[in-house]
Amino acid sequence: MKLVFATNNAHKLEEVRKILPSTFQIISLAELGCTEDIEENGTTLEANSRIKAEYIWNKYHVDCFADDTGLEIVALNNEPGVYTARWAGEAHNDAANRHKALTLLQGITNRAARFRTVVTLIRNGQIQQVYGEVKGQIATEERGNSGFGYDPIFMPEGYDKTFAELPANVKNTISHRARAMEALKQILV
Ligand code: IMP
Repeated sequence: MKLVFATNNAHKLEEVRKILPSTFQIISLAELGCTEDIEENGTTLEANSRIKAEYIWNKYHVDCFADDTGLEIVALNNEPGVYTARWAGEAHNDAANRHKALTLLQGITNRAARFRTVVTLIRNGQIQQVYGEVKGQIATEERGNSGFGYDPIFMPEGYDKTFAELPANVKNTISHRARAMEALKQILV
């Protein structure tokens, strides 16, 4: 069964192809021939993931899903949330985003945070949303070299290492996105 994943992120594609049964052929936006930049102008993760999935459904009428992730830091009123990618500016600069988090949290002892992923699936025109989250703490400094985004400053609950210090296979079992993809698998099979 063909299923379009509204992304061109190679890392996400690989992850989801590992999680979903091989009966699902996962097709990227590039493979679909969709080269437009889908504007994510929603104010929630739910809205943005739905915008991306609906764009594909309306244009191509193929079964599809889209994801959207946010980092929610408790001491900052759950910021950056839906603005996680462009928190330090439209350039989507990971290093600047991490620096902003560490600067705003200087001297603050409550470092609790979570990553939350919303996946919107559209199958035969029917919309369903599933979720995944991982709770953790924002470290006081950057640690580790693997992963991407906020990984060097996020320590998942139960570990004293950041996502950037943990092996990929560990991160890929406990991460927000992995959990959302597992939830997607449950409604697909
Ligand atoms: P997206 O919705 O997957 O594009 O992610 C939104 C923002 O969250 C981007 O700034 C990503 O760098 C960040 N992000 C998403 N997933 C992860 C992760 O697994 N680790 C670290 N940062 C992430």
